[in-house]
Amino acid sequence: MEPILTEQQIALWHSLIAAARHIVITCHRGPDGDAIGSATALSSWLQRHYPEADIHIIAPNIFPDFLKWIPEAEDILIYDKHEDEVNPIIEAADLVIMCDHGELKRMATLGDAIRPLLPSGGAPEGRTRCIMIDHHLDPEPGIADLVISHPDLSSTCEVLMRVMMETSPLSHREKLVGGAGLLTQSEATSLYTGMMTDTGAFTYASNRPEIFELISILLQYGIDKDKIYRNVFFTYSHNRMKLMGYMLYVKLDVWKKAHTSVMTFTNAERRRFGILNGDTEGLVNLPLQILGMKLSVFLREDTEHPCIRVSLRSVDDFPCNEMAAEFFGGGGHKNAAGGEVWGTMDDALALVKKAVQKYMPLLKEGDNK
Ligand code: 5GP
Ligand code: MN
Repeated sequence: MEPILTEQQIALWHSLIAAARHIVITCHRGPDGDAIGSATALSSWLQRHYPEADIHIIAPNIFPDFLKWIPEAEDILIYDKHEDEVNPIIEAADLVIMCDHGELKRMATLGDAIRPLLPSGGAPEGRTRCIMIDHHLDPEPGIADLVISHPDLSSTCEVLMRVMMETSPLSHREKLVGGAGLLTQSEATSLYTGMMTDTGAFTYASNRPEIFELISILLQYGIDKDKIYRNVFFTYSHNRMKLMGYMLYVKLDVWKKAHTSVMTFTNAERRRFGILNGDTEGLVNLPLQILGMKLSVFLREDTEHPCIRVSLRSVDDFPCNEMAAEFFGGGGHKNAAGGEVWGTMDDALALVKKAVQKYMPLLKEGDNK
């Protein structure tokens, strides 16, 4: 496995962490398995290596119930619920480690609270240092002292595990045999969770052999990968199952010629089915099971703001991230991206039509073969 860190980055990693006493680990708004997995694994790993450091994980807002079983997830501070208690912790931070996002904007109000601590936000150089560990495209320039950004890797958990291995003083052999304390079973569980969720249980973004080498190491730390799968994916409420039926039977619109499907979800429907935040997770993936489908679009009314959240999923080479950036002010990965439309559902649908029209040549590619 080729290293992902340079010697310089390894030295900077060690010096930034060794100098820190008050470490804040953050993740993006609407935390997913990769965000919570990487933050919890990193927190536990740092605490073992730097027992004197004071370490907190702060998430911008709540994360879904199906991630609550993740080791140490119960210790995560939720910024938008406990702003007053969390602000002094942020103020005291001398090192911020951002996991699974490359822009302060993706932390919403937590990003606003952190920005003034950083040189890019006007703070004196060196007051609070910042490390970014991520796999999204186009990290915000200048926010971190150390940027570890690998859009080619499956997940932040994969990036993090490789960082842990490359910065560890253990021998190559010790790292491969699951011994000598490279990871604890809990850390391995967190790391596996992020790799699994960000690849749809290894059905996309996971063709590179390295990820399976890493998983083989994680298994040696005693993770129960079958249980992790059930913990994350077999947790629907009865209502959520009914919603799935409703969405597929009533709400799924298939634009056959464009190999595209569109589903919309309103707050009225959310109330009708008693659907909590996060419970729409995964619905966007379903239409891609239809033969010939290349793009799936899911539009849902935001629960807090007058806007429509857009989720895009694709197969093969269709670039969801480019469509998201061009039409929905967002971004993401090639096969999974998102953004938003500040307007009504009709506005959002009109924009989706425009976007699909623009990408029609790519969507129809191969039709005459
Ligand atoms: P989801 O559809 O699950 O909300 O998002 C899928 C992926 O798209 C996320 O993992 C993230 O990488 C990206 N994404 C979603 N919303 C945004 C956004 O507003 N801005 C950016 N830059 N990326 C987003
Ligand atoms: Mn991720």
